[in-house]
Amino acid sequence: MDDLKFPEILLNSLENGHFVIDENFTVTYWNRWLSINTQITSEEIVGKSLKDFFPKINYKILQRKIRTALRLSTPTFYDSNSNTIFIPIVRNKVTKTALKLMQQQVTISPYIATENTVMVSIYNISELHETKLSLVKEIEKVNELNETLEHNQDIIDKNIMIMKTTPDGTITDTSSLFCEFFGYKKNELIGKKASVLKSGNLPNSLYKELWNTVTHEKSWSGEVENLTSTGNKKWVQSRITPILDDDGVLIEFNAVYQDIENKKLIEELYITDPLTQIYNRRYFDQLMNTISKKQRKADTDFVILIADIDHFKSINDTYGHQVGDEALKDVATTLKGTLRDNDVIARWGGEEFVIMLRNIGLEEAQMIAEKIRANVQTTKVCDNIDITTSIGLTKYILGEDTNLTFKRADNALLKAKASGRNLVLTEL
Ligand code: GH3
Ligand code: MG
Ligand code: MG
Repeated sequence: MDDLKFPEILLNSLENGHFVIDENFTVTYWNRWLSINTQITSEEIVGKSLKDFFPKINYKILQRKIRTALRLSTPTFYDSNSNTIFIPIVRNKVTKTALKLMQQQVTISPYIATENTVMVSIYNISELHETKLSLVKEIEKVNELNETLEHNQDIIDKNIMIMKTTPDGTITDTSSLFCEFFGYKKNELIGKKASVLKSGNLPNSLYKELWNTVTHEKSWSGEVENLTSTGNKKWVQSRITPILDDDGVLIEFNAVYQDIENKKLIEELYITDPLTQIYNRRYFDQLMNTISKKQRKADTDFVILIADIDHFKSINDTYGHQVGDEALKDVATTLKGTLRDNDVIARWGGEEFVIMLRNIGLEEAQMIAEKIRANVQTTKVCDNIDITTSIGLTKYILGEDTNLTFKRADNALLKAKASGRNLVLTEL
């Protein structure tokens, strides 16, 4: 130790590895840290070739680096990637059972104390290396997560109908399926008002209720008929959710839709008479059943008409069943054409129709019935076949069983038949 020069005494006290070699790799200095961590003492290695102790070092590179350091008088890195272990030093990590090799950064710099030698310094960068590794892992995880999210986003985009709007109903985003379903390109919808999709067939009260719900920070669900870009009508089940920011301020509406075309079609088939395309008996029965539960004037102020084609059997017998069918369709069309929008007509049975005239007094109802009878009489089935109907009618009495209403209308009809047909009769 006594013959050590000043920089070497200093280097001995440092917590990194420092040794000095010449171009032939002969070691001329080996600091204390290296002695402790390699178990090779300064006495053992000084004056010998580094190659004898560490054969695995890439000496070609080392030589090139030594020459660079000497020629340019500047420090260089042995391996800027720092993935190579220069001098294997085992670290015992207290927290982990596995022994780990120290990650090192090695610099080679001209040694100031003796000519034609370089100082090789080994810095412990294990912590840095581990941080880097865990950072790389984190980044990988985030990338994976992003990929999954993107994938899910893609699935959602292609399989769920979504529309987003500003609080005033301006469309800001739509999913691909939404665009496809309504026949739009995304850029044709963005910036437009969501009301471009309204079919115009739904009552204003529905939109009022919708608006009232979502502006009170609640989700609204319901069936809506929308328009496609080409003007076709399509039914969707919609759920509109208001989105609030952290301060509770409404920032957007998020609407999710489901195609219910088939459901609507089945619902319609369920209540439609296939021959005449008017309501069937099932629908009318349902309607009557709800009447007894509702006792509001608007729902209970109605007149029931039963219209039965006269001598229909003979039309069938004379012209055939197909002409009979045409007659049924023509009469249905005539009846429908004579009624107001609010009235309901259904095919009750073979050649019998039942009609509900709403919000009407008996006298006015009798006038409408008379008009129906007259219109049927002027209807020429298959251009030249005359046809007539008899009609019985009665007014619903508040609170009564609707079967009784029917019975009275049917009695009136029977009397009309008995009185010569092509007649309207009323039973009070
Ligand atoms: P009335 O003046 O007393 O009502 O005599 P009607 O011949 O009309 O009465 P009836 O009840 O005796 O005959 C009804 C006929 O309606 C019998 C049946 O063959 C016919 N009918 C019932 N449903 C259909 C149908 O869907 N198509 C056709 N073409 N005929 C039907
Ligand atoms: Mg009949
Ligand atoms: Mg008949």
